Amino acid sequence: MNTLLPLLSLVPAALFAVSAEALQAKSKSLVGKAVAVGDFSVLPLLDREHSFPLNLFHGTDEAAILAMAGGPQAAGSFNVFLLAHGQERFLVDAGNGTLRPERQGQLPLCLQAAGTAPENISNIFITHAHSDHIGGLVKDGKPAFPRAQVHMPRAEYDYWMDDEAMRQAPENVGSMFTLARGVLRLLEDGKLLRLFTPGETLAAGITSVAIFGHTMGHTGYMLTSRGKKIFFVGDLLHAEAIQFARPDISLVFDADQSMAAETRRRALKQVASEAIPIAATHLPFPGIGLVRLAGCGYSFEVFK
Ligand SMILES: [Zn+2]
Repeated sequence: MNTLLPLLSLVPAALFAVSAEALQAKSKSLVGKAVAVGDFSVLPLLDREHSFPLNLFHGTDEAAILAMAGGPQAAGSFNVFLLAHGQERFLVDAGNGTLRPERQGQLPLCLQAAGTAPENISNIFITHAHSDHIGGLVKDGKPAFPRAQVHMPRAEYDYWMDDEAMRQAPENVGSMFTLARGVLRLLEDGKLLRLFTPGETLAAGITSVAIFGHTMGHTGYMLTSRGKKIFFVGDLLHAEAIQFARPDISLVFDADQSMAAETRRRALKQVASEAIPIAATHLPFPGIGLVRLAGCGYSFEVFK
């Protein structure tokens, strides 16, 4: 708790007790319930709460999307997943960090609440290079995880480093290139970046799986241990209330919306038929659960 003291010292003395309680209550909600997967333990961390405006979803008319969502916004989140295997600690993605002042993440507080430190993380598996997944790799202009190998799909790296792709990018994507390049160059300077081709096994029990569409190198990670599995699906889905029932509905930020829909259909079919739990970045915290067949689509049973 000591590293919270600088924060607390900014609070007027009369409010100290109340604020300390509030912080304590908050720290409890930063970490979800651990899910055992063979010899691994998967801990969901809440980097930041979030919801998605319905006009981001494409594929059917507004009234149908509103009816599925049940309100003006689709409930969502920014989840990061901490994996514990013996003394080893891994992360899947790294949250928002402080790259965008209007949307700062709280991963350092989450890790503290989970009883670990950034120096203990040895591997970080990145699904794609959007700022809400790689922003947390940087802190105060330095690598936030000084001992971690950061694994990134080569196609993803190539896309964000491609000057022609940057020139052709829609206006709302342009700034993402600048942010991604800053993070990637910092990691390269520190020799912390490791590029791979999806399909490769990256660490004991962790195999990368191409789930292209949201971005051109978007990659999931299948953790397998003692016959148990969990599939980290990154941004395969953004709205529980909409995209399980209608996997064909994509998000405006899916780089190739029809490829994203096809990938979503294929992945959901596999995890439902094989009863493999998924862990998703943007589904409401904790974002881990089982996908089941439901009518023409699917439903999601959250692990609480
Ligand atoms: Zn995302």
